[in-house]
Amino acid sequence: MEIKEKVYGLLSDTEIENILEEGRSKSVEFCEAALENGRLGKGLTLVELAALAYCESPEIVTGLLDTAHELKKRIYGERMVFFAPLYISSFCSNNCTYCGFRHANETMTRRSLSPEEIHQEVMALLEQGHKRLLLVAGEDPRTTGIDYLEQSVAAVYSVTAPDGATIRRANVNCAPLSVDHFRRLKATGIGTYQCFQETYHRPTYKEVHPSGPKSHYDWRITAPDRAMEADIDDIGTGVLFGLYDWHFDVVGLLGHARYLETKFDVGPHTISVPRLEPAEGAPLSDHSPWMVSDEDFRKIVALLRVAVPYTGMILSTRESPELRDQLFALGISQTSAGSRVTPGGYTDSGKLTREDLLAQFSLQDQRPLREMVHTFVRGDYIPSFCTACYRSGRTGDRFMQLAKSGKIHDICQPNALASLKEYLLDYADEETKAQGEKLIQKELSELPERLRNVTEKMLARVAAGERDVYL
Ligand code: SAM
Ligand code: SF4
Repeated sequence: MEIKEKVYGLLSDTEIENILEEGRSKSVEFCEAALENGRLGKGLTLVELAALAYCESPEIVTGLLDTAHELKKRIYGERMVFFAPLYISSFCSNNCTYCGFRHANETMTRRSLSPEEIHQEVMALLEQGHKRLLLVAGEDPRTTGIDYLEQSVAAVYSVTAPDGATIRRANVNCAPLSVDHFRRLKATGIGTYQCFQETYHRPTYKEVHPSGPKSHYDWRITAPDRAMEADIDDIGTGVLFGLYDWHFDVVGLLGHARYLETKFDVGPHTISVPRLEPAEGAPLSDHSPWMVSDEDFRKIVALLRVAVPYTGMILSTRESPELRDQLFALGISQTSAGSRVTPGGYTDSGKLTREDLLAQFSLQDQRPLREMVHTFVRGDYIPSFCTACYRSGRTGDRFMQLAKSGKIHDICQPNALASLKEYLLDYADEETKAQGEKLIQKELSELPERLRNVTEKMLARVAAGERDVYL
């Protein structure tokens, strides 16, 4: 990958403070104009973001939520991509004060899955209908280094269910690596590499990461740069909301996205919005002075949707079903379902264990995938199991160009419907099947003729028994 001359640097704390101060001083008229620009899908400047974050005018707040909803519908339609997290190791040499996996937490029983155990987990997830996984690991140079990651991704891709189903895309959320090790990770065939900065505020970062390799802010914030240099051009970023003032962190996050766009011509492929949840043995997790209310969290999701309209947004099952349903409408494009956050959690008992509920953090939405799909098709959301872009080479700037021109819709919609049809035929109960078919017909009838013909042919191939049909 060619690395462009740097134009923006990464923002310093003082620069973020200055942007916040400028944003705070802006008028309601300025916020109205910012929303007007946002509605055009052009994103927001850092000052516009700061101004909207602080603005408490009920009209502006409502306008922001409406704009986010509008953009979500225009760019992503009603599609919602499903994935499942696969926790492969809970060993960790860091001491993040908010996470149950932290080294000093002696109440936790540690476990690293072997290739055979990963095989079993993947088989359980394939049986549910999942096609896309996110591998998650603690950071422990002795047990979860690059050799282990390579072996684990290989184990995931090696599994074939009796009906021929396989995992089609494995993304990874692990500690930052060197360029050489990122190259090795890329060679395993991963999709996105995810790494959350947690907070952009350096003093807080230092305080909540007191020891271990993660205590080095600069090593972490430059992880996307090294991954890009290693040609992993789908990068996932995020903030752990609740560690510090969310106004500061949304500006830091947008600054980071703009920096990557300037340097590599492509910003983050996804942004995740985890919010601090109670975790056993993690003192900060339920005592942070910066906890984010549901109201502010809705605003955060809407702000990010308007600020970076073409970046996918990911929501985990940490949030309650009610709030999740609201956040989907405001801009979320990918979500997990039926998650387990302990290694072995999908096969150990099939049920949520006490560890799952308390270990790394709490899971609020425990609806299994089949229930989520059922709810979605009844509510006119299109559950998508599509993994096509990455396998068709539409990553990085190629993906962004298509997204920004609006052409991606012509690819995503047929792919989503074909993947839904596959799910309905292979995994759904009769009621979901009937409702899902109704939804597919409704969506087909709304497509322009050329696209409808293409999609009908794809659906016919799936109905005839072909699998993994995509554009
Ligand atoms: N160890 C790697 C790391 O820290 O980057 C990857 C795995 S870590 C389990 C994945 C993410 O979990 C972290 O980046 C953090 O944002 C999130 N997390 C940790 N503790 C949490 C908590 N108590 N509530 C919500 N999210 C949490
Ligand atoms: Fe380890 Fe990641 Fe948890 Fe920190 S957040 S303790 S690095 S697993």
